[in-house]
Amino acid sequence: MVIDSIHTSDAVRTLDASLQADLEQLRGEGLFRPLRVLESAQMAEVVIGGRRLVNLSSNNYLGLNTHPRLIEAAVEAATEWGAGSGAVRTIAGTQSLHQHLEARLATFKRTEAALTFQSGYTVNVGVIGSMLEQGDCVVSDKLNHASIIDGIRLTKADRILYEHTDPDDAERALKEARDRGYRRVLLITDGVFSMDGDIAPLPELVERAEKYDAAVMVDDAHGTGVLGRNGRGSTDHFDLHGRVALNIGTLSKAVGVVGGYVAASQTVRDHLIHKARPFLFSSSHPPAVVMACVAAIDVLEQEPQLIERLWDNARYLKKGLADAGFDIGRSQTPITPVMCGEAGQAMALSDQLMQRGVFAQGIGFPTVARGQARVRTIVTATHTTAHLDAALAAFSEAGKAIGLL
Ligand SMILES: *Cc1c(COP(=O)(O)O)cnc(C)c1O
Repeated sequence: MVIDSIHTSDAVRTLDASLQADLEQLRGEGLFRPLRVLESAQMAEVVIGGRRLVNLSSNNYLGLNTHPRLIEAAVEAATEWGAGSGAVRTIAGTQSLHQHLEARLATFKRTEAALTFQSGYTVNVGVIGSMLEQGDCVVSDKLNHASIIDGIRLTKADRILYEHTDPDDAERALKEARDRGYRRVLLITDGVFSMDGDIAPLPELVERAEKYDAAVMVDDAHGTGVLGRNGRGSTDHFDLHGRVALNIGTLSKAVGVVGGYVAASQTVRDHLIHKARPFLFSSSHPPAVVMACVAAIDVLEQEPQLIERLWDNARYLKKGLADAGFDIGRSQTPITPVMCGEAGQAMALSDQLMQRGVFAQGIGFPTVARGQARVRTIVTATHTTAHLDAALAAFSEAGKAIGLL
């Protein structure tokens, strides 16, 4: 890829040299990772480096990305409506398709309205960044997703963190916020935590927030399609409809496409349309994306057996890993971490698994705390028992090879 004939200036080379120093540091910590390139569709088996592997690395919980109904909807939409939307939502980029998806999402999530964004990342950055200003306060779980943290960084609002999934500590933070007399107080939590697979104690958090007059925002990126009736998410799982002000979700994980949304009141929707910067200044989804997402909601409503299969597979893999002697953390969902300690161990386990036909990514700092590196697995509804047995055998051998078992 290097083009010899291009002369690079001193300034270009100086920047590269400076960046190389950062990369050297990552290398030293065992955190420099080449991108894994999939030479196949994202499925229960994938091809990497010409080899077919059992894939435990995707967020494609239900295999919807290759579901025939989604593909058909995408093809039809592209044929009829074109490849791109051509504008930001507020200028000319809102098509009836976008409105249709939002109406479907609102009904699915049992809220008055919904608004879609380009991704789950941008919805968090857009919602938090636009709704809170100086004189407001965020009360946030210490292990909330990076996109929530980045959203918080964009506001001049104060922030009070509470200990991970601890309602009593959240209450301390909420009380502190109330006593300081802020205009708006928003408690934010992941519904399901993406690295540990634990579920936020939402009923307790909502109750405490109500006691101190704070609103609750749940990021259900890993809850939608997994928890609740037909995968409606953690608000539905805990029957908290009407008590969670902002239901954030992604269309990139179980829904199988790409995008993010907030399901909330009509007032929230109107507010975001006028204030959320990713909504105002970044173009809307192509028609194929929108209609594939609509088809995904149809599938969630009509094929709940996919979610049952996902949970059966999750229980099977968890039991197998625990029986083999691995520390699989505190997960309550299909996200199953295999704890490794230092990043080097996690990367070594991932490499050993790859040699044995299993693709499961090692994850280290900054995605998780130092010393808590892991190989994170996510099973899907489309894995067969044979896939899972092969994966378990590979885990046992790989774990022994690196001295983790
Ligand atoms: C993955 C994830 C996001 C980002 O969603 P994208 O659609 O991939 O941008 C946001 N929040 C949480 C909790 C996530 O796990």
